[in-house]
Amino acid sequence: MRVAVVSAEAVPYSKTGGLGDVAGALPKALKKIGVDSVLITPCYLQTKGEYLWKLAIDDLWVDWRGLIYRAKAFYSEANGSPTFLIDAPEFFHRSSIYGFREDYERFAFFSHASILLLKRLGAPPDIVHLNDWHTGFAAVELARLSNYDPYWQKTHVVFSIHNLAYQGGFSLDELWKLGFGGEFEVNAFSFNGYASALKAGLVVSDVLTTVSRRYSLEIQTPEAGYGLDWLLRLRSNRLFGIVNGIDYEVWNPETDPNLPANYSKNDLSGKLICKRSLLESFGLPVDLEKPVFASISRLTAQKGIDLIMEIAGELLATGSYIIALGSGEWQYEQFWQRLRDYAPRQVGVYIGYNETLAHKIEAGADIFLMPSRFEPCGLNQMYSLRYGTVPIVRAVGGLDDTVENFNAVTLTGTGFKFQEFRADKFLEKIYEALFIYYDKELWRRLQLNGMNEDNSWENAARKYVQLYSMLKD
Ligand code: ADP
Repeated sequence: MRVAVVSAEAVPYSKTGGLGDVAGALPKALKKIGVDSVLITPCYLQTKGEYLWKLAIDDLWVDWRGLIYRAKAFYSEANGSPTFLIDAPEFFHRSSIYGFREDYERFAFFSHASILLLKRLGAPPDIVHLNDWHTGFAAVELARLSNYDPYWQKTHVVFSIHNLAYQGGFSLDELWKLGFGGEFEVNAFSFNGYASALKAGLVVSDVLTTVSRRYSLEIQTPEAGYGLDWLLRLRSNRLFGIVNGIDYEVWNPETDPNLPANYSKNDLSGKLICKRSLLESFGLPVDLEKPVFASISRLTAQKGIDLIMEIAGELLATGSYIIALGSGEWQYEQFWQRLRDYAPRQVGVYIGYNETLAHKIEAGADIFLMPSRFEPCGLNQMYSLRYGTVPIVRAVGGLDDTVENFNAVTLTGTGFKFQEFRADKFLEKIYEALFIYYDKELWRRLQLNGMNEDNSWENAARKYVQLYSMLKD
């Protein structure tokens, strides 16, 4: 089976969020279980030169809006699987990866160039696996090509939704300029008076997936459907939820080079060393008896920071530490900084993006807070489970799929979970967690339950292969 994964970002070449993690890891996991996989992604100004192993194609001619561009493609396996990075400086050499008025045009170009590149690479893929709105253009083009180009006739298209909130909207007038003037195509893109690349992908792809089972159900409701719930309900027999895996090589407390001490489920003593070092690095007084609560997150409303703001006073009153790493909206950054100024002996804050520190926090913390409003999958709760850090989550999206509420009688469960988006419900779970925390034996059991979970990519990749096989037969 030949699978081509196409994504606007992929670790380690580029990343702004969970999409990058998935697109980097899935092809590697597919390859490990014997699938012939290739990843296609842009080469940005931000992509490190060391990842561009060699120039594979220096004359990828791309016909585009009446002009012909000469793009290039670099080859790499820095993510652990064969990757081609499309290099077209006009489109991808910018000060940031996204955030430009003409983003729709940049990724329409990427979609088109990816299809041309794939055709240059030899036999057609059985599956083209597209991701998020950036690749909706490719879904439509492949649907068109399958009608008359024998090369594409046996290829099936899987389209994954990582976040329905980003829809790739632009003016309908632009469609014909991008080469999508046909009636079927205009219909596919049309959405509330404008064009949506995401909607087009959802309409024309053979199969749709989301990054958790619960999210696949939520997006079929008006509350979480962003105006597309009707379409997702229409296509519900073609919509599947597969929870993301996490990279078990990068996120492994036994080998993680970012930690002051490594540890495993058989010997957790290193975790205490990590806790001490974490407190010291934030200049906090060291009392290892007290729990460390942590948050690592983009600071946006999605992540439920408002709930943390509401309960922060009560949480501090328990004498616990709070450590936060994040960047994003001004009011949330302000909140964290003020909280630290208010209780400098209990609160540690780092505003910014820091991968190494993220590892140190996952290892050194006791409890991880993730009270999201919505969460397609979420990765940090899974990192927490692996690092013996107990997550407190809201029961939405992937958080609901991956965390089971702890039951102190049956001793089952991996964390704490509340339903409604309400501060009092969140606080109840915090108190419950504290109660268990001070019972060392129960806490150890809870930690081990989490550490024994299998959230590996291999597990997730097998589910994708089942889906691909279903299409192929
Ligand atoms: P989302 O994709 O919505 O941001 P996920 O939980 O799916 O949320 O993935 C977020 C990823 O980004 C995780 O790998 C997380 O550790 C990382 N991350 C988020 N904010 C920061 C930060 N300030 N510093 C380091 N890593 C961060």
